[in-house]
Amino acid sequence: MTGVSKINLVGLSRDQLINLFDELGERKFRADQVMKWIHQRGVTEISEMTDISKPLRERLKKISEITLPKILKSLVSVDGCHKWIVEVESGSKIEMVYIPESGRGTLCISSQAGCSLDCSFCATGKQGFDSNLSVGEIIGQLWWANEQLNGFSDVKERPVSNVVMMGMGEPLLNFDNVMDAVSIMMHDSAYGLSKRKVTISTSGVVPAIEKMKDFTDASLAVSLHAPNDELRSRIMPINKKYPIAELLKAVRGYMDSLKDKRVPVIEYTLIKGVNDHRQHARDLAKLLESLPCKINLIPFNAFSLSEYKRPSSSSVTNFRQILKEAGYTVTVRTTRADDIGAACGQLVGDISDQTKRSARYAKSRIIKAKLLTDDENLLVAADIL
Ligand code: SAH
Ligand code: SF4
Repeated sequence: MTGVSKINLVGLSRDQLINLFDELGERKFRADQVMKWIHQRGVTEISEMTDISKPLRERLKKISEITLPKILKSLVSVDGCHKWIVEVESGSKIEMVYIPESGRGTLCISSQAGCSLDCSFCATGKQGFDSNLSVGEIIGQLWWANEQLNGFSDVKERPVSNVVMMGMGEPLLNFDNVMDAVSIMMHDSAYGLSKRKVTISTSGVVPAIEKMKDFTDASLAVSLHAPNDELRSRIMPINKKYPIAELLKAVRGYMDSLKDKRVPVIEYTLIKGVNDHRQHARDLAKLLESLPCKINLIPFNAFSLSEYKRPSSSSVTNFRQILKEAGYTVTVRTTRADDIGAACGQLVGDISDQTKRSARYAKSRIIKAKLLTDDENLLVAADIL
């Protein structure tokens, strides 16, 4: 990375670009010009922005630059999925995944290098936390996917139709940067994705869900994974701070704030012998009675540091059936890109763990779900919020 004090144009929202040009005594359409050059034509040199006068380009070059994270490796799965390993400014490596399906292409992007929340079933969580990604590093993943998949050749035929913030990290613990990045994804002068096609997935950072409505109207997915507080707190330490009732209330509040009729996706990772019993399904059906939603079941994806197992396909089917009979729309996420370690919860990158969690795991091999009373992760969360 170069130019320590220069502004990175990749990471500026339209409003921020308008302010920048305002300070330069320029009109606001310049913001749209710059966004189009970077996000629709893939230009990385200010000098190539030919509809901007030469003197203005020179002034821009003095104060700003176009800096993207670095692609270190590109992997393609036998099922057509792509995974890229991306180096961010902190030196950590993060991962993003592209999942092509008929009629759409979904990009799963990361919001943090690592994650501070330590859910017991998640490979990212086992790695500990390094840093929040900058706006440029978040939107840079979408930029790279466009560059790698079709070289920005056709704005109308862009390969990425949907973005899900389901890669590494908890998006709502990097709130400001994620909100700015999402606004760039959705702006017509950049990627023009509709609010239905950008999904923020959260493990349940309640105060952040409560303030989301003031910043975005993107779609919401909630990682629930258990029908009661006792079990949820055991597998997701964040539940001790923000229990289920508060979480569902905040989710309802966000959905009510949206102008269109949209429902949240409730994500439920099925782990053999932990949360996959028929009674769990019945309790889940009851719990969600008053929240219109879709349920997405994710059979647990194994990784080396975990002793958890994936349930048999018949128990997944049974679980699904109970929810369907209770009237829910239920999908089961098919595992994709397992061969390149790109399935849900398998994204690990290579981060410099500031929490020293990965070292502790390696040392003690404590890999079972654990209850921490003094959870440093939640302190990290509290600090950030
Ligand atoms: N931090 C956010 C987004 C990233 S995780 C969140 O927790 O929602 C994206 C999804 O993958 C979450 O629903 C998460 O619970 C799920 N997941 C994590 N580890 C998994 C694993 N090993 N197998 C299946 N799903 C997993
Ligand atoms: Fe973090 Fe989400 Fe993994 Fe939990 S599931 S550790 S919140 S990335």
